[in-house]
Amino acid sequence: MNTEHQNRIMAMLHARTQRLEKGEPISPPIVSSAKYYLPGAPDVPNVYGRDANATVETTEDALRALEDAHVVAFPSGMAAITAALMSTLKSGDRILLPSDGYFVTRALSDEILSAFDVQTDTLPTPDYNTVDMSGYALVWVETPSNPRLDLCDIEHVARRAKATGATVIADNTTLTPLLQRPLDLGADIVVASDTKAIAGHSDVLFGHVATRRPDLYDKIRQWRKLSGAVAGPWEAFLVHRGLMTLEVRLSRMCSNAKALTGILQNHPAVSELVYPGIGFVMTLTLEDETAAEKFINECPAIFPSTSFGGVHTSAERRARWGDDVPQGHVRLSVGCEPEAALLEAVRTTLEQI
Ligand SMILES: *Cc1c(COP(=O)(O)O)cnc(C)c1O
Repeated sequence: MNTEHQNRIMAMLHARTQRLEKGEPISPPIVSSAKYYLPGAPDVPNVYGRDANATVETTEDALRALEDAHVVAFPSGMAAITAALMSTLKSGDRILLPSDGYFVTRALSDEILSAFDVQTDTLPTPDYNTVDMSGYALVWVETPSNPRLDLCDIEHVARRAKATGATVIADNTTLTPLLQRPLDLGADIVVASDTKAIAGHSDVLFGHVATRRPDLYDKIRQWRKLSGAVAGPWEAFLVHRGLMTLEVRLSRMCSNAKALTGILQNHPAVSELVYPGIGFVMTLTLEDETAAEKFINECPAIFPSTSFGGVHTSAERRARWGDDVPQGHVRLSVGCEPEAALLEAVRTTLEQI
């Protein structure tokens, strides 16, 4: 881990502590208030709960240290995605979305943006490296993509997209700013579902938008205030707590994932293994639906569920949602279990299917 990276994690961990006065609590108070004491002129930052909340701001401060950018928190990843789209687009715009990215983003464009005369083209993630980007007001990148974990080169894509005037937005949920830094690579905006690894305990929905452009930051904050898509203080507290252990959890999840590939690669039951070489999500293809369901439901180290990034290793067959993948395809999100016990559980289950 390089010094810059370590310093960012330090800054995130101490974003709150370094500002404390003697006797204040290390853990952020949960300020659950819709109203503030406001006699006379409204000349203080806190006038109403939709505009400002101290707990949410504490979480934004920690995320800001990590992203090295302005951050606006939202009650879910989709609320962050909606905010990023609605504050950058106008009627008549054409946008490019990954055909293999998070499906709800595409559904949002099909069912909602289309009504505002926004035209959407979709493209498989690997084709982003070569396609002509002219004519797009907005280029949306998600790498590794979901569920096939295909990749594109964000720096190369952002340079070409921006040269033709597009705003570049990266959904960085899967890798988090600890493993991939789209803003450093030229993206204008990062969106993330903090429901996943950032909160990390599968107990909260949350999201954020990060940008280094003050103009976009102002628009996104204004969108939140006007649309009312505000994050709650209890949720912000949980995300702040998750952030404090993010680096430790991620390093265990990633080392567990690497170790698992050692078992899965060349295993006779696994016909294909896709692991991007980074992160904690991988996909493996077993013989058929029965084999995949058996693996997911019978392995004592695996919690069958959708979503990823929690402390428990979890898995699902994306084909059950209609994704264009084989019936035996399993997406595995590797968790924080002790390595040897995890490997043993997976090895034993694979022998029995
Ligand atoms: C989960 C997810 C989202 C949506 O986040 P929610 O917090 O569930 O609203 C967006 N993008 C990606 C890549 C995701 O995995």
